[in-house]
Amino acid sequence: MIPIVSEAIEEYARRHSTTNNEILRELAEYTGKHCEMPQMLTGEPEAALLKLLLVFSKAKNVLEIGMFTGYSALSMAEALPDDGHIISCDTNAETTTIAQQFFDRSDHGHKIETRLGPALDTIQSFANDTHFDLVFLDADKENYCNYYDAIWPLLPVGGLIVADNVLWSGRVLDPVEESDKAIVAFNDKVQKDNRVRNVLLTVRDGVMLVYKLSD
Ligand code: SAH
Ligand code: CA
Repeated sequence: MIPIVSEAIEEYARRHSTTNNEILRELAEYTGKHCEMPQMLTGEPEAALLKLLLVFSKAKNVLEIGMFTGYSALSMAEALPDDGHIISCDTNAETTTIAQQFFDRSDHGHKIETRLGPALDTIQSFANDTHFDLVFLDADKENYCNYYDAIWPLLPVGGLIVADNVLWSGRVLDPVEESDKAIVAFNDKVQKDNRVRNVLLTVRDGVMLVYKLSD
């Protein structure tokens, strides 16, 4: 992932956003040393943004699609009330185990329930009355449009979808690979959807905020 703004600005933004606690710092360090593609981890300013969005929206039930080593999940858990709940999905058993080890050490880890397997299957397995106040979309980019459609019925009016990597290192301007085209299709789909109010933020690799106005 190449940041959209310069490294210097990215670093400046990081130094002027609320910093993380020791467990999250350790998790980031552990991921950097032991995992492939550690750059997938959300990082400090975006974690601070997620936390503020949770506080503003007073969300209690969160769905995360794409957990990796649990950095964004644990960040969000810290911002949730004690009876808040996150379901976080991933297909990778190894990173899910790492995530759970860190959750077990945190006072907020009990709020996170992990689900191993393809996220679309997990979403399909939810009971009809399941709802999520906020969905953080951060798994395989080829499925972003499918995830959007699948979670729509589970999102009440006033709910928020936060989709990560929507600038895809700038490749949205010249899409070549399937993943590039999938992100372009997702951004266009959201932009055309008159049931939502949305904004594409140039934070890190691009973050799309989608507020549900009507069903
Ligand atoms: N949100 C994480 C980063 C997620 S990286 C953080 O901020 O730290 C993307 C993750 O999506 C990877 O761990 C990958 O295993 C997972 N993934 C890929 N395809 C998936 C699928 N079909 N269902 C669920 N997870 C998937
Ligand atoms: Ca991401």
